[in-house]
Amino acid sequence: MSRTLLSLVVPFYNEEDSIPVFFAQVIPALEAIDTVDFEIVCVNDGSKDRTLPLLVNATQIDARVRAIDLSRNFGKEAALSAGLVEARGDIVVPFDADLQDPPEVIAQLVSKWREGFDVVLAKRADRSSDSYMKRQSAGGFYRLHNKLADVKIPENVGDFRLMTREVVDTLNALPESRRFMKGLFAWVGFRTAEVTYVRHARVAGTTKFSGWKLWNFALEGITSFSTVPLRMWTYFGLLVAVSAFLYAAYLVIRTMVRGIDVPGYASIFVSLLFFSGVQMIGIGVIGEYIGRIYLESKRRPLYVIRRRYGNDSSEES
Ligand code: UDP
Ligand code: MG
Repeated sequence: MSRTLLSLVVPFYNEEDSIPVFFAQVIPALEAIDTVDFEIVCVNDGSKDRTLPLLVNATQIDARVRAIDLSRNFGKEAALSAGLVEARGDIVVPFDADLQDPPEVIAQLVSKWREGFDVVLAKRADRSSDSYMKRQSAGGFYRLHNKLADVKIPENVGDFRLMTREVVDTLNALPESRRFMKGLFAWVGFRTAEVTYVRHARVAGTTKFSGWKLWNFALEGITSFSTVPLRMWTYFGLLVAVSAFLYAAYLVIRTMVRGIDVPGYASIFVSLLFFSGVQMIGIGVIGEYIGRIYLESKRRPLYVIRRRYGNDSSEES
């Protein structure tokens, strides 16, 4: 029986400070799992610092390390997608470069997988390493997303998980180019187990996700997996139409009983402003979806690989 190959897939964006600690901790942790061989697929997502030379250096020191250099910054979701395509392992684990997820947990994922699961989620015991604001907004996002979408995203689970070859092949075959990985992971399904762990603070550097980026990320998630925001306008429109009809009936009756009086200017003005605002929001929501249709329809690749380094990918190409 041949040994299992584990691929650790790691996106790197301006992580020069994390890299030395990263390899120093991850390689021993993977070597400690004596039932698997491993490769580390590092995707350089257009870093502007010394990340690429440091990764190339790592591939020369250790043949189990490979580096994929993207032609520019495509964002974490695309970098992760690239890594999943490049990974050759029988089991694949996406992992962050900043060591917020302790590498020792990988061994727990592997032993859970041996029990016969296709996906093993690494679930955070708590979010104490995140700021108060991030905890609140993340909680709100999951509640809203899971209310609106048919595919439920498990709370407190990031990209860190173990997937078998079948699961990864299924993900790689999904046609969409706008990739909300958490949602896609949940969409493919398969027999899933969970392992709980404690998430740490970053070892070095700062988070690459600002509040605005996270907001857009949340919009991406909801518009990728739900059409409820589109459909709700039908019901809202009905509600407004029915209340307008009732109000009209009331006015007719009042005029018949009390005679004609001159209505206020303020009420007309307020309702005018209110309904123009509501209509613009509605158009905005439709615009979100049309924008997505537009971007999908171009059928551009998710990412562009500039060059591959390490382990039998011809270095001089
Ligand atoms: N990352 C990436 N491309 C980007 C932003 C981030 O490849 O455009 C990588 C980053 O280097 C790290 C992982 O994605 O390995 C998670 O990023 P980060 O730790 O900043 O996110 P957080 O943990 O704060 O959600
Ligand atoms: Mg992080």
